Amino acid sequence: MQLWGRQFFGIFLLAFFTFGLLSCRPKIEEGHDKPLSDEPAPGGNLRIYALDVGQGDGLLVISPQGKTVLIDAGPTEAGDEVVAALRNHGVKQLDLAVATHPHADHIGGMKKVFDSFRVRKFLDSGQTYGSATYEKLLREIQENKTPYIKAVRGQSIELEPGVKFDVYGPPDPLFKESDIGADRSVQNANSVVLRLSYGSFAMLFTGDAEFETEDRMMKAGANLQANVLKIGHHGSRHATSGKFLTAVAPQFAIISVGANNDYGHPAQLTMDRLKKANIKTLRTDLSGEIEIFSDGKAFDARPSRKATLAQTWAGRQPVRNELTVNP
Ligand SMILES: [Zn+2]
Repeated sequence: MQLWGRQFFGIFLLAFFTFGLLSCRPKIEEGHDKPLSDEPAPGGNLRIYALDVGQGDGLLVISPQGKTVLIDAGPTEAGDEVVAALRNHGVKQLDLAVATHPHADHIGGMKKVFDSFRVRKFLDSGQTYGSATYEKLLREIQENKTPYIKAVRGQSIELEPGVKFDVYGPPDPLFKESDIGADRSVQNANSVVLRLSYGSFAMLFTGDAEFETEDRMMKAGANLQANVLKIGHHGSRHATSGKFLTAVAPQFAIISVGANNDYGHPAQLTMDRLKKANIKTLRTDLSGEIEIFSDGKAFDARPSRKATLAQTWAGRQPVRNELTVNP
């Protein structure tokens, strides 16, 4: 709020017109090559950045009044870049940090984030997980006396009046190993799933949710509709069912995935489903950081780099056994 005060509202309205924001349809074209602007976003805009963290997830949400939420922080090696990206977007502190699940490609960068910013609250899936990276993060949270929230379906987190997250996952009780296929990850299936809403705009953040997570949410009758879907599990073949896409009915899909990853993310099957459903798709491996912004009615997305449709719809082949590496 301090950054973008109400007195600038008139200027922002002008900026809305300039950027064509009042159009009700998302505008993104093949080969769109507009660089991310260093200019402050227009006031009244909710901004979401899918950060360029390589193979992993890192998404920054900045509410119109300047509340900040980081959903995952990428792998350890992306920590410095995540901190730099947050600073670049004017982040001074984080009102909330979310770890969707304890895999390293989602929490590895958190330590650098905690070392660099005051984090006012931390939310995660509440799963026990014995990795050194996760234990280190929990110690960091304890040392910083950061209030901890365990995500449970049905919670609602208001960032400011009119802007909130609804918690859709993990389920309560959590999925057990026996609920999930043997070659799959229960940590993924128990990802925190959040639906961010602002006016008529909504975005769904799925972490590394799997088919089982999607089915559970659909059975629970959750309002899954969202303009933008952060595709689950980097576009893995174990997520993003056709039924789920129909329930969410997004106009845009964002895939956070690393170039040259060995896991076969995103899977060709997933890309084919997105293409068939006519969902405009942006991938961080092709487009770098992606900005999504909305005034609560219309919305738009801005990739840092252009990608052709042929590149966009091309999935990858796994070169490792997904059983042992399924982050
Ligand atoms: Zn992951």
